Amino acid sequence: MSTTSPNSAKTSAPAATEPAKSSNFLRQIIESDLASGVNAGRKWAGTPGDGAHQAAGQPDPARIRTRFPPEPNGYLHIGHAKSICLNFGLAQEYGGVCHLRFDDTNPEKEDQEFVNGIVDTVRWLGFDWNANGTSHLYHASDYFDFMYRAAEYLIGAGHAYVDEQSAEDMRINRGDFSRPGIDSPFRSRSPAENLERFREMRDAKHLDGSMVLRAKVDMASPNINLRDPTIYRIRRAEHHNTGDKWCIYPMYAYAHPIEDALEQITHSICTLEFEDQRPWYDWLLARLIEGGLLNAPPPRQYEFARLNITYVITSKRKLAALVYDHKVNGWDDPRMPTLVGLRRRGYTPESLRLLAERAGTSKSGGWTEYSTLEGCLRETLEETAPRAMAVLDPIRLVLTNWDEVMGLSATGDSKLDTCSAPVHPHRPELGKRSFSMGREVWIERGDFEETPPKGFFRLFPGNKVRLKYGHVIECTGCTRDADGRVDTVQARLIPDTKSGTPGSDTVKVKGVITWVGVADGRKAEVRLYERLFNEPQPDAGGRDFLASLNPNSLRIVQAIVEPSLAKARQDDKFQFERHGYFVADRVDHSDSRPVFNLSVGLKDTWAK
Ligand code: ATP
Ligand code: MG
Repeated sequence: MSTTSPNSAKTSAPAATEPAKSSNFLRQIIESDLASGVNAGRKWAGTPGDGAHQAAGQPDPARIRTRFPPEPNGYLHIGHAKSICLNFGLAQEYGGVCHLRFDDTNPEKEDQEFVNGIVDTVRWLGFDWNANGTSHLYHASDYFDFMYRAAEYLIGAGHAYVDEQSAEDMRINRGDFSRPGIDSPFRSRSPAENLERFREMRDAKHLDGSMVLRAKVDMASPNINLRDPTIYRIRRAEHHNTGDKWCIYPMYAYAHPIEDALEQITHSICTLEFEDQRPWYDWLLARLIEGGLLNAPPPRQYEFARLNITYVITSKRKLAALVYDHKVNGWDDPRMPTLVGLRRRGYTPESLRLLAERAGTSKSGGWTEYSTLEGCLRETLEETAPRAMAVLDPIRLVLTNWDEVMGLSATGDSKLDTCSAPVHPHRPELGKRSFSMGREVWIERGDFEETPPKGFFRLFPGNKVRLKYGHVIECTGCTRDADGRVDTVQARLIPDTKSGTPGSDTVKVKGVITWVGVADGRKAEVRLYERLFNEPQPDAGGRDFLASLNPNSLRIVQAIVEPSLAKARQDDKFQFERHGYFVADRVDHSDSRPVFNLSVGLKDTWAK
């Protein structure tokens, strides 16, 4: 991908902003399922529900059903974007539907603020859970009644029992990889006794933690998840959806397969850490189908490797620590890998969809380079972002012969000369922008060297450069302030060299520099971001990720920007020529106080 800089020719073709789809194991599974018709007989009654409810429905208009099931206990991060793109993307590709399901079975951690944030973010990424005239937005907590009924069924069928062992005994008796488990003394209670006890649990007759409901599977299974997993626990906690209706709550591993089944999900896609849960997922649904509570075929679980990106943390808990310890300024700090943070940083939905596709979908983990993420953003902005000039570290350049060359105005003042530039170098339809050059302009401090190092082609006494879109100038010297810092650079304008005028390139120069006029430049705050961590895998191997925080991850500078940026609205994205892509901050930017965030630098080798 090429980028624009004053001294590099444009060569590349327009970027493809939508991913080129490559096959992956999930696409292959879906294609083979569609070919074999395993799911073809499924019915859908228009809403989630048990076997009888669905059986009375129509043949499912969705060829496949997937779901994105976030727990509303925090803001979504870039790892979730992978899961969203995968689940919604596969449904789109194969004529299916993807449900947005709030997995809110845990009463204590969930919050409406997070629910709203997730809804906004999934929409922003470009996905929709409305299909066939129905909104497929669901809450797992709406299924508590069915989950309870299923638990009573399992008890009645001899597949579940109330265990009153202490948590400690239960842990010890579960065994480990080398030792089989030991049956609980409560395992052989009769269904009637278990049912009575379970109802007492529901009716708040027992203390939190005093007993649990467990499935009766196999205490000797080599898969520890099958050693009579807990399916219900007592927890006197108010739930954001069901209030204090329940004092018992289902465990995630019990709730999740049931949620999938009630929603007629065909392909339940999750991350690899759930692989060992799959036998339990299948066992549970097989029992409920046997009991007539659900219909065959059950949903099937498939696991893929989670997205890991170098220099990025994707754990809600650790991200929360950064926020609560004030290491960053909130969940939407532009350095955060949350989707609200990336959005504020200037990331586009297209760039994140592109990343999700490029990172690939496989069963073996791995790390995606941070530079891949940045590359995806550059590619989507390259063809769309209007160009502008900005000087991030301004010093004054005085064109000492300006009045002599340009003449004075009627009032005896220095004249201004209008320069124009395309809004986008490849998209003439976007028009032109204009700004003025005058006797004084702002240039980058780094573009001047009194004693140039070898290979330096920009301003130094005796050298000529072009002021981009303007004239060629020749540097004559500089003045320093009391501290010895360069304060002003002097140069002479070379007449008849203005860009775009006949013969303007007869004077050859090796350097072109960007600038902003003193007369019409506008002040702006620019926030320059770097990676939040200095380590490529900040939390690998249980490392203290706070120890590798980059102390320079935010630097704020007072910049001068060209007048066309006066029209910038929050969220508008630009390429500041030679510097990178910037976005008008979606929180702090205003007409009276312009604020721009660095989204990503140019893949530019402006090292001349
Ligand atoms: P965290 O560990 O950050 O809390 P989580 O997995 O608990 O994440 P959930 O809200 O439960 O977060 O997850 C919603 C979905 O997003 C799940 O299907 C989960 O597997 C998926 N997901 C979470 N992190 C990633 C990741 N890094 N890559 C791909 N998918 C992910
Ligand atoms: Mg979780």
